[in-house]
Amino acid sequence: MVADNGADKTGKEEKHNVLTSTQTVIHNALEKLGYPEEVYELLKEPMRMMTVKIPVRMDDGTVKVFTGYRAQHNDAVGPTKGGIRFHPNVTETEVKALSIWMSLKCGIVDLPYGGGKGGIICDPRDMSFRELERLSRGYVRAISQIVGPTKDIPAPDVFTNSQIMAWMMDEYSRIDEFNSPGFITGKPIVLGGSHGRESATAKGVTICIREAAMRRGIELKGARVVVQGFGNAGSFLAKFMHDAGAKVIGISDAYGGLHDPDGLDIDYLLDRRDSFGTVTKLFNDTISNKELLELDCDILVPAAIENQITEENAHNIRASIIVEAANGPTTLEATKILTDRGILLVPDVLASAGGVTVSYFEWVQNNQGYYWTEEEVEERLEKVIVKAFENVYDTAQNRRVDMRLSAYMVGVRKMAEASRYRGWI
Ligand code: GLU
Repeated sequence: MVADNGADKTGKEEKHNVLTSTQTVIHNALEKLGYPEEVYELLKEPMRMMTVKIPVRMDDGTVKVFTGYRAQHNDAVGPTKGGIRFHPNVTETEVKALSIWMSLKCGIVDLPYGGGKGGIICDPRDMSFRELERLSRGYVRAISQIVGPTKDIPAPDVFTNSQIMAWMMDEYSRIDEFNSPGFITGKPIVLGGSHGRESATAKGVTICIREAAMRRGIELKGARVVVQGFGNAGSFLAKFMHDAGAKVIGISDAYGGLHDPDGLDIDYLLDRRDSFGTVTKLFNDTISNKELLELDCDILVPAAIENQITEENAHNIRASIIVEAANGPTTLEATKILTDRGILLVPDVLASAGGVTVSYFEWVQNNQGYYWTEEEVEERLEKVIVKAFENVYDTAQNRRVDMRLSAYMVGVRKMAEASRYRGWI
């Protein structure tokens, strides 16, 4: 499962920022591209937002009613696509912002999708396996009318995994009365999952790190890397960096961080982490997530949750390159401070698009009933991410904007054009 980094989410107000700051950048991107205001009016919020109540029989016999959401941002290009998050701090505003980010990612890597996102307010760390199954199935029943292989295709996100995808696929297949593997991605391989999907987000981040380091003249071999979060993205990434000869000098989870200037023993840590990405509890000598972000390093990878680098700590960041593996880890104010300080920031909507890219490959394989090898998946992913990186980097250079704005410009264009051709705007 993906990690929650634990450097607490800072409440509803902060999360409100996630949506408003996304809207600000979308507005700027559309303005730079010369689109009229009504395009912004259409794209600033999801076209469809569903709130559902999910009653779940708990193991002790009581019934608990959970709240869930599904946001569909824009389906001009094709069906909407995006993960489902299980987390106590999920809010409607956050899910909306996350669905917009998915649209941007799909635009940047040029997939035939719009963005979607789901979330359930719950804490899976306190739930049994069977309770989680009932919650997963209940959510699918509640949203079944608006999702489907040609409408809206979910996937894993924070604290959801291939087992949860399998239950959801099974529930949808019962409702639909067809075996519907293309309803959801991130499934176990035996149920039509794709090779390389589990590590895809980290693979995409790794490619972005390589491309960014090359442009900054940083040799990956021996480079000092800090990774915040040890969930799906963070743990695979630490491994890939380690294998590439980089020195992973810091990692963290929900409870704190570990630091070793000579490089951590990543294989040992991977072996000891639990399914929620927790590992630091085993150690006495830990640092805080705040300290971790400020470590002296070459490459910093926030791979946990939103709003970790803010105007409060942006001045203290000592990395030369930041590559965002999480969704929304850096605020807009911090983006400006870091850019002004000459730090190269590769934004989430580009850096973390490897996950949805291989989700697309999974859906294509499900639709054609013909499956690819791991090598085929990786080769295709490499091409897609390299092209996307070049496109965003070159746009930033040519238009003299930071990479977040250029990524939004690249990401929003196809959606705006498709909406126009359809006669919506
Ligand atoms: N949850 C992932 C993301 O935020 C993957 C979404 C997908 O595969 O559809 O990009």
